[in-house]
Amino acid sequence: PKIIVALDGFSSCGKSTTAKLVARQLHYAYIDTGAMYRAVTLYFYNHHLSLTNPRDVEKALREIQITFRYQPETATNETYLNGLNVENEIRKMYISERVSEVSAVVEVRQAMVAQQQRMGRSKGVVLDGRDVGTVVFPEAELKIFMTADPLIRARRRQDELLAKGELVGLEEIMQNLQKRDYIDTHRTEGPLRQAEDALLLDNSFMTVDEQVEMVVRLADE
Ligand code: C5P
Repeated sequence: PKIIVALDGFSSCGKSTTAKLVARQLHYAYIDTGAMYRAVTLYFYNHHLSLTNPRDVEKALREIQITFRYQPETATNETYLNGLNVENEIRKMYISERVSEVSAVVEVRQAMVAQQQRMGRSKGVVLDGRDVGTVVFPEAELKIFMTADPLIRARRRQDELLAKGELVGLEEIMQNLQKRDYIDTHRTEGPLRQAEDALLLDNSFMTVDEQVEMVVRLADE
């Protein structure tokens, strides 16, 4: 029987890498919930909207349409904001620097969670994020909470950014990850935390293949 797999955890510990490959092996859909908060952040940035102005928040949420489209060339779902492919833009550092403040806004969370619940309704889905196992799908059959050593996470993120042509120092990345984790953990709505029934997976010294194999095996049980 097909299930819901929830992969939550700290920033940059390989959730999306793992989630994508698990989804592919299981022939499940994959939903990157972080990409949605990143797309909202891009919209606020492009339109010079203020997070503390309720009218701006309302306008943004009324106008924003986020969709995922399968890209055969990359064999992944890419993120579209109001019909435009923003997959590359939302991964950049200036979005990472702003996304946690945007995702702490209650109305933003409510709108994103509602859309995630609609998209994941049909089972056979892997979602990665911060609150999937606690808020979006508390009924998920398999919940994993991922973590890894901060320095190892920062190095992985640095490689990822470099592969896309953005050179960022390790110190700056470490600070960004630390700041996001702090804000994500301390917000009132849908804070980042391990669900009581989630398995803790520290992948500091695991290969991607090992993680994928472990999650696939757990999903098959
Ligand atoms: O997973 P990713 O690093 O792309 O997520 C970017 C940011 O989006 C997180 O740091 C967090 O602030 C927010 N987020 C969230 N809830 C989720 C997924 C992401 O608040 N389910």
